[in-house]
Amino acid sequence: MNTFTYYNPTTLHFGQGTLEKLTAEVPKYGKNVLLVYGGGSIKLNGIYTQVVHLLKSIDASIFELSGVEPNPRLTTVHRGVEMCRTQNIDLILAVGGGSVIDCAKAIAVGAKYEGNFWDIVTRKASATGALPLGTVLTIAATGSEMNSGSVITNWETKEKLGWGSPFSFPKFSILDPAHTTSLPENQTVYGMVDIMSHVFEQYFHHVDNTLLQDGFCETILRTVIDTAPRLLQDLTDLENRATILYSGTMALNGTLSMGVRGDWATHNLEHAVSAVHDIPHGGGLAILFPNWMTYTLDANVARYKQFAQRVFGVTTTGKTDRQVAEEGIAELRGFLNSIGAPSRLADYDIDDSTIELMADKAMVYGDFGNFKKLTREDVVNIYRMSL
Ligand code: NAP
Ligand code: FE
Repeated sequence: MNTFTYYNPTTLHFGQGTLEKLTAEVPKYGKNVLLVYGGGSIKLNGIYTQVVHLLKSIDASIFELSGVEPNPRLTTVHRGVEMCRTQNIDLILAVGGGSVIDCAKAIAVGAKYEGNFWDIVTRKASATGALPLGTVLTIAATGSEMNSGSVITNWETKEKLGWGSPFSFPKFSILDPAHTTSLPENQTVYGMVDIMSHVFEQYFHHVDNTLLQDGFCETILRTVIDTAPRLLQDLTDLENRATILYSGTMALNGTLSMGVRGDWATHNLEHAVSAVHDIPHGGGLAILFPNWMTYTLDANVARYKQFAQRVFGVTTTGKTDRQVAEEGIAELRGFLNSIGAPSRLADYDIDDSTIELMADKAMVYGDFGNFKKLTREDVVNIYRMSL
């Protein structure tokens, strides 16, 4: 196991009825609240009305930034930063999914930075501070509610890049499974795929003696695999929604990375696809992950064998280690098909004409990935396998 330092300052309020915690949390930071949300789902499911009611009950002044796009854009971050400055905002409250929260993180940090926020995303400048941020999560997926990461798209340059800083953790996050029951089936599936993908990114490594970390990862994967079919049978089931919501937070709040070095190549591959084609993150991951696994199998067959045995219960008698490992990847493909996740780039009408462009975008910082270092040639190969 590697040495590590763990830091996570986010207060989590989890469970039904926890939205009321807003009335205790918000006044800690001030009166002027920038309410950040997406394309209107929170108005349709009533969360907007509840949030505004609670904010008014504590005499908060509400300023609104709506229309944050899935795959949030730099132009929206700039709009938010401008509002923070002109309206003297004390607290940013993000109500929505990972896109809304990631955008709000960028606004929070951007408000304390004089230059163009894109400098921070592209590592030309470092964050120097942030306005406080609180979140009300409405989709189980990214873990953004309890981590410092954020992914922003610059549509002009067709780049989608992750960034993060010690300043970009939410101060508090409110997770009520009832807020996720209005999620349609496809978004529910994308979210579960993203959760599993975060675990994969931290599970496929070469670090020795990670028994406890492996167990955490395998438990989250088995939990999602076990719960997904029941949740898809009844999208309003609160117990199953709660299980997936909790899984999403635990998959990417830093716990699984203690003492290991994650890979993160597949997220990078997916961001390049989304940057060019604006597809849902979880949909892209469902297509790319099994192909990345097949491509990297020989980097550590034993690891894939363990995955097959412990996550999917693949038996070993009479099989080579490689066969067991391959069976595990086949099981994953079968599971993803069973929940209706996309399996080919063609499902999003993506053909080979943009592979070189996507590879350019993926290579922006050079070779990447820690489980297996991917070169440009590897990247093109994996995209080709995914067509
Ligand atoms: P999302 O993009 O925030 O939301 C997807 C869609 O679901 C939106 O159309 C949204 O509509 C809708 N929606 C959300 N909650 C809903 C609800 N309760 N009922 C009905 N519809 C609802 O999805 P996401 O997967 O959470 O976030 C994806 C983004 O996060 C990507 O840009 C991805 O790259 C990034 N990401 C970040 C991290 C991280 O650690 N920060 C990790 C992985 C991925 P509205 O717009 O109307 O709300
Ligand atoms: Fe993700």
